[in-house]
Amino acid sequence: MTTTAPHHGPPCSAATCHRGLREHELTTGQTICSPCVHVIGVWLQVELPRQIIVLEGSRQRETTGASSSGRTAYRTAPLPGRDDVLNLLGPAAWSDGIRDPYGQAHADQHGTLPIAGILVPWVRTVCDERRWNPPASLGPQALADWLAHPPVLDYASRRPWAGDLRDELAELMRTVRAVTRLRPQRRPIPQPCPRCDSLTLVATDHQLYTDCETCESRFTRDELALAARITVATLKVGTA
Ligand SMILES: [Zn+2]
Ligand SMILES: [Zn+2]
Repeated sequence: MTTTAPHHGPPCSAATCHRGLREHELTTGQTICSPCVHVIGVWLQVELPRQIIVLEGSRQRETTGASSSGRTAYRTAPLPGRDDVLNLLGPAAWSDGIRDPYGQAHADQHGTLPIAGILVPWVRTVCDERRWNPPASLGPQALADWLAHPPVLDYASRRPWAGDLRDELAELMRTVRAVTRLRPQRRPIPQPCPRCDSLTLVATDHQLYTDCETCESRFTRDELALAARITVATLKVGTA
């Protein structure tokens, strides 16, 4: 079995994804695959809220030096990367939302872009294109919630820039995880990959899809259960 081009159809437009678009995804006019749409929702609505809590906690310690007991018996040593924490939680203005021709948001300061600064251009793009009202707050979580709203995500998944959105959010999550050192847990699934037979299936926290690290295919829980039943049936036939 080959490990190239796991699916027919044009590729998912995200550079960080190697999947081909399936028939039902092409029918709906998607430019990125459904696993990518799903992972964007997971990042924005499940993982980012937890990461922001950790970042807020670090900022609290940095700025007040207070311990949870209320006594400042000693000032804890600054965490490495505390500037990154402050940058990530930094504000963004609506006027930051104009994307340059290269599709990259820019910051004047060196270092990490604020989460809000990454999200505003995308929110603004959708608002401009659809004439939808922006979120009332430009805080990072309000922006993330707005983008993850099903009609918004559904619309975004059919735009030519959807792949850029997915790639930029992947980069943002990498940056945030590097600062908080909080990464979604991954665990191996003891079942051969239905596509390439390798024992390299890995499930990741919060995600519907299980990835094969060898052929980069993704499977739902249903697909894996079906594949497992077929394997068992084949073994029974083989030994009968
Ligand atoms: Zn994809
Ligand atoms: Zn595989």
